[in-house]
Amino acid sequence: MKIKYNYLPEEFCNTEEIFYKWRELIKSSDYTLGKYVYDFERKFANYSGVKHCISTNNGTDALILALKCLNIGVGDEVITVTNSFYATAGAIVAVGATPVLIDTDNRFQINVEKIKKHLSSKTKAILPVHWAGASPDMANIRKICNDENLLLIEDACMGIGATISGQSAGTFGDISAFSMHPLKSLNVMGDGGMITTNNDEYAFWMSKYRNHGMVNRDSIEFWGVNMRLQPLQAIVASIGLDKLEDVLKKRRSNAKQLDDALSNLTVSGHVELPRRIDNHKETCALYLGLFKNRDQLRLFLEEKGIETKIHYPKPLHKQKAANKNCKFDKKDMVNSEYQANRLLTIPVHQFLSQREIKYISDTITMFYDKKN
Ligand SMILES: *Cc1c(COP(=O)(O)O)cnc(C)c1O
Repeated sequence: MKIKYNYLPEEFCNTEEIFYKWRELIKSSDYTLGKYVYDFERKFANYSGVKHCISTNNGTDALILALKCLNIGVGDEVITVTNSFYATAGAIVAVGATPVLIDTDNRFQINVEKIKKHLSSKTKAILPVHWAGASPDMANIRKICNDENLLLIEDACMGIGATISGQSAGTFGDISAFSMHPLKSLNVMGDGGMITTNNDEYAFWMSKYRNHGMVNRDSIEFWGVNMRLQPLQAIVASIGLDKLEDVLKKRRSNAKQLDDALSNLTVSGHVELPRRIDNHKETCALYLGLFKNRDQLRLFLEEKGIETKIHYPKPLHKQKAANKNCKFDKKDMVNSEYQANRLLTIPVHQFLSQREIKYISDTITMFYDKKN
């Protein structure tokens, strides 16, 4: 059996609906912002239960836009997590601020208990990540922000469709950033991103800043940039949003099947899976676990036709880039360093059948049986 990590050829095998809308767009020549972009923004705001959605050309720019809007820059520190995609820290550095990297917890999320000791007089915001499409402890992060008078920016790039007690990821913070990169839960055919906020002033500023600061064709109110989402992609996103709940349902059911099938191996200590919290709904963007003899297992799975990934073999604080513009306590990174050597990402996507999921868990079980 061959199990590919990449599902995009299957996802986009039927493009009729997209091309139909694209032909409509091409006739309208509405190529910058315009109806298709605004329609999608309204639809996404509605989906998330938030007042404003401002689309951008990718998730990294969405993060930069959020930080800029909150006036975070040179001399400011922003607390974030060391196991994330580069863009989380990269966006903070891009606005001139300093990322302060915090260790993970045993759910691979920011370790909330370790945040307080890293606060300083320069701390301006906390930027937690909904890593792998699961959510960190937003209630306690919100509490620290309230107590310490800090801004809260969510990196919900992998969290489109995640909820805590029914409340959408990306609605807890002052501003939240999302990505529609091909490998996220809501994906387009290239790059796309979004911002959400309930604050009218922030929304006004960001909707202008991402479009040169223009209030109309002939006047700008302040200097801005071009971070616009392509209307072609807004169409793909809008069609994708209609299907998102079904996609997430399938991914969650695949993840549950894996959890159940691997539970014996968690008892024997070969595998560690993150604790699932009852009132959290995950997007299952990545199915992460810690696996003993990870590198050998990975080769074994590859021989058996199962493609896997590692997110990530090196936490941010271990990157060469972190020697500059970053703050962290090397000795306080025990969890993320332990995890980095054992993490493996197993395919969980919506096009996998129950039989294929069973083949994955059987093959993992076979690997550990052989070793004993
Ligand atoms: C994908 C991702 C980003 C960056 O999004 P792009 O659209 O690729 O720029 C940022 N943070 C996290 C956690 C991500 O997963």
